[in-house]
Amino acid sequence: MPVVVRSPEPAFAQPISALSGVGPKVAEKLAARGLLTLQDLWLHLPLRYEDRTSLTPIARLQPGVAVQVEGVVEAVERGFRYRPMLRVAIGDASRGTLVLRFFHFRAAQVSQFAVGTRLRAYGTPRPGQHGLEIVHPSYKLLGVEGEAPLSETLEPVYPAIEGVGPAVMRKLITQALDRLPDQAALELLPEHLLGLPDGSRLPSLREALLTMHRPARDADVAALSACTHPAQRRLALEELLAHHLSLRRQRIALQQHRAYALSGRGGLVARLRAALPFELTGAQERVFTQLRADLARPQPMLRLVQGDVGSGKTVVAALAAMLAVEAGRQVALAAPTELLAEQHLANLRGWLEPLGVRVAWLAGKVTGKARAKVLEEVADGTAQVVVGTHALMQDAVAFHDLALAIVDEQHRFGVHQRLALRDKGARAGDGVSRVPHQLVMTATPIPRTLAMAAYADLDVSAIDELPPGRTPVQTIALSAERRPELIERIRVACAERRQVYWVCTLIEEAEEDPKAPPRGGPANRVEAQAAQTTFEQLTAALPGVRVALVHGRMKPAEKQAVMRAFKQGESDLLVATTVIEVGVDVPNASLMVIENAERLGLSQLHQLRGRVGRGAAASSCVLLYQGPLSQMARERLDTMRQTSDGFVIAEKDLELRGPGELLGTRQTGLAAFRVADLARDAGLLPQVHALADHLLEHAPALAERITARWIGGAARYASA
Ligand code: ADP
Ligand code: MG
Repeated sequence: MPVVVRSPEPAFAQPISALSGVGPKVAEKLAARGLLTLQDLWLHLPLRYEDRTSLTPIARLQPGVAVQVEGVVEAVERGFRYRPMLRVAIGDASRGTLVLRFFHFRAAQVSQFAVGTRLRAYGTPRPGQHGLEIVHPSYKLLGVEGEAPLSETLEPVYPAIEGVGPAVMRKLITQALDRLPDQAALELLPEHLLGLPDGSRLPSLREALLTMHRPARDADVAALSACTHPAQRRLALEELLAHHLSLRRQRIALQQHRAYALSGRGGLVARLRAALPFELTGAQERVFTQLRADLARPQPMLRLVQGDVGSGKTVVAALAAMLAVEAGRQVALAAPTELLAEQHLANLRGWLEPLGVRVAWLAGKVTGKARAKVLEEVADGTAQVVVGTHALMQDAVAFHDLALAIVDEQHRFGVHQRLALRDKGARAGDGVSRVPHQLVMTATPIPRTLAMAAYADLDVSAIDELPPGRTPVQTIALSAERRPELIERIRVACAERRQVYWVCTLIEEAEEDPKAPPRGGPANRVEAQAAQTTFEQLTAALPGVRVALVHGRMKPAEKQAVMRAFKQGESDLLVATTVIEVGVDVPNASLMVIENAERLGLSQLHQLRGRVGRGAAASSCVLLYQGPLSQMARERLDTMRQTSDGFVIAEKDLELRGPGELLGTRQTGLAAFRVADLARDAGLLPQVHALADHLLEHAPALAERITARWIGGAARYASA
């Protein structure tokens, strides 16, 4: 979205088309990448740098080290070995010879390389057939007597943009930088807040941008490559600040709405607690106290409760629901799958119906008359608690008086779905517009640093303690070669009436799994074992064991039926794909095998493993892997063996994968950072928060401008 245009336009808002060499075509290509104004070009930072400030004598080249060389063409050879090829040998005063090799070239190019021509080339030499060679170097012809000045600065290499060549891009950025305003006009951060805790100071924005685009020849290239240079930290700081401010602004916007203050005496809460067969853990108590305080306020709550699988989030949500019911209002609880929603329904009915609370059920499969009846109860308020799936968010669903919307496993929903549910409760009845309180729950713990940055628009609570009496799941990693031993072990377990999960990571060739492991590494080449085949093999290998199969290609009704049968003990061994990942509770299952475990990310492994260890029996999890393991895979498996603490695992996951993958872009837009990296720059966050507090209090207009500079106005977050 273009920044507000005033006249005369400030430099930052000038359109790129004002630069020379930008026709409508180029402008369009740039716009497609979000580059509209000069400011966008200033913030379009190099990916890496090439050092063309000096020449390296050819005799001193080392394989793998990028260099610039200058020499005279000594020989040209055009060949067709397997494909067309051009080899140009050059030599210099050091008496070294280097081959420049081209696979793609035009005829005109060939005639340029006359013997005796002087040229300058840049690239990374590698050992070839006849000594070192550079494949597809960038080069410049200097003519026979040619001379050209060396660059004064390191040469930036920008991210490729289709239809805009690197040379054009460099020219545009040079022009844009020439119009960079002086520091006073450019700087938005108060000078006195640029000090770092270690006493050093970050450079001004102007200085940082110039360093990034035109690093001096003595610049610390290592630091630049590692993205730890003060210039990068300065930009990362401002970018993190911009995102943080934007989230804070959403939060402020939410606070403008009203909500019902659910501040009853808690009679229902007390009755529910008294009826529970267990005591709440300290963590559950703490989180419920937080919820209760939030709900008592006439402003809408927006709180994320994270708690490891099995930490007991449901009962805490049920207690919160009682506060709304007691106030005579409604509660919605949405879960991402029907099975999970059904489980909630069973729990809530078990807990609440004895207290006289009416719990209704709404899922896709509720149709016809039954559906009409539920919709009516929801609309007239008879249904006090409504449990369901995405079906709850559909247009046809109208609540009488929704005061609390609970979304379980919120990472499985998009932001817009959560908002759709929230909007169900928006009313302007008595002249006051109200929205429901929102409680979102997740079993995917998010490291604290990340949560602070990613969720500045909501409050975060953690249930960081498991109910007593759980025996930790013993986890072992086993090479796939030892499968026969494992099968024997399963036979024994089933004979002891234990139930077993066998998880395959792919079914047939093409299961669309958005959470598929990162590609690359040797793991990539390993073909996943089809669940179908495994099912057949295990059925044959384990006579007397009742083997069942569930996978993503089955119809939802079939899936539910298989899962239900397993839960009821009608099968012993369940061969499954990752469809069982979320929330399913089968306390009698105490052994899990995860096949091709090396392919899965940490959080997914952790989620899967959370399916066992839910009952009193000691449980185990076998991570079956195909060697050889990549470094990453080895670290993941080691982490899984060493800990079952979801928060520790999440920290490790963040370290191994980075925040984009951890959170998904759907919810946060975090992956859209230009410079910042939450894992790397987490240390800046306290300063980001301090800056945000300061700006919001003393200079809200500056805060707006910082957000607009980095995020491009309100457009991206408008709906959140
Ligand atoms: P999750 O946080 O994974 O959603 P659940 O809410 O499904 O966990 O709880 C897991 C199991 O633990 C359920 O059977 C639940 O009844 C039980 N539970 C919850 N809180 C406690 C507690 N304080 N003591 C004992 N069992 C509990
Ligand atoms: Mg749950």
